[in-house]
Amino acid sequence: MSASSSPQVHFRTCNLCEAMCGVRIEVADGRITSIKGDDADLFSRGHICPKAVALRDLHEDPDRLRHPMKRTASGWERVSWEDAFSDITRRLHALQQEHGPHSVGAYLGNPNVHNLGAMMFGPGLLRALRSRNRFSATSVDWHHPIIKLRPPSTQSSTAFRHHCDPQPHQERQQASVPQA
Ligand code: SF4
Repeated sequence: MSASSSPQVHFRTCNLCEAMCGVRIEVADGRITSIKGDDADLFSRGHICPKAVALRDLHEDPDRLRHPMKRTASGWERVSWEDAFSDITRRLHALQQEHGPHSVGAYLGNPNVHNLGAMMFGPGLLRALRSRNRFSATSVDWHHPIIKLRPPSTQSSTAFRHHCDPQPHQERQQASVPQA
């Protein structure tokens, strides 16, 4: 039986929600052995919720996507990132050439605002698509009658709008709000 290596400790930020709690992760022999709150984190000060402990389950889930997969006539096939990006780019371009910019829609969720890559490059991608069709949990929520009756100024302010906000929907819904 081989001797186990001494555990390594990694300090990270939980990326499951915008609270961004500090976590202390112990790894031994390539496996996570402990996830606890980081007492030195200035915001969370050692507190985490049960979801952070489940990060290990997510990390080790055998069904977690770890590389691009492409659906082919013979089933799902692993492809390289280069092939995935060039294939998607080619097909998006062809679709918009034939049916116009709004034939492509984007759905964005919370992880986009606490993922550095998505935060930095997501807005540029959305601008490049030139589509008014942007969806998020917010666009679903705004179909709720109570929210539709709120004054538009309280629904979202320009100052706090980010690239997940479905502005075109807000404009259409304002037009449908009953007038007093
Ligand atoms: S530990 Fe819980 S509250 Fe903190 S960031 Fe993760 S999911 Fe959010």
